[in-house]
Amino acid sequence: MEHIQIAIDGPAGAGKSTIAQMIAKQLGYTYIDTGAMYRAITLKALKQNIKLDIEDNFEFVKETSFEFIDGALYMDNIDVSKNIRTHKVSNNVSLVSSYINVREECVRIQRTIAEKGNVVMDGRDIGYIVLPDADYKFYLTASIEKRAERRYKDNCTRGIKSDLSILKEKIRTRDHLDSTREHSPLKPAEDAIMIDTSELSIKQVVDLITNQIKEVD
Ligand code: C5P
Repeated sequence: MEHIQIAIDGPAGAGKSTIAQMIAKQLGYTYIDTGAMYRAITLKALKQNIKLDIEDNFEFVKETSFEFIDGALYMDNIDVSKNIRTHKVSNNVSLVSSYINVREECVRIQRTIAEKGNVVMDGRDIGYIVLPDADYKFYLTASIEKRAERRYKDNCTRGIKSDLSILKEKIRTRDHLDSTREHSPLKPAEDAIMIDTSELSIKQVVDLITNQIKEVD
């Protein structure tokens, strides 16, 4: 049976994960946060104290298991959803996600999950690499100021201390690394619908996307 695939891409803080999660819930689809996988690999590498700038050190990814259960990511059967949100992981994830071996393994797993049922998948390369035949593709953007503000509020809710101007700089750096890397850089698929979320509420974006889906149906 053919399953429905909804791809949502965009830079950090554009609102992807909250919005993708709400759409998945509304439609009864599985939500896959692909960024969480790259974060989890970064976390594992940091815990193992391996040198992050040596790509060959990431062979362990092939022996690592990933499972999404109710939106939470389990790596090697442990729920890592909270531990992958630290500054240390955020500051190193772009380097780790730039490695081709890491990406190939993640993409393989992401495609396998999508084969099993209807999915809403968010990330940086979903619409043009992971699921190029996705039924619906969206690319969310927002001004850097808005994105930093959102991350700041997010961090406050999660009990993570942060500084707004430092967050802004970190997001700028991550945007740059993610969009200029050699393999699968952050960019919209040619057929993606672009949505600037700067002045929109979460509900407005969710409505925009679900209306689009209904219209095509
Ligand atoms: O979505 P999130 O901000 O948690 O993603 C963390 C990082 O994972 C991104 O900055 C990017 O380096 C990497 N990523 C990626 N490809 C994806 C999803 C995330 O390279 N599909």
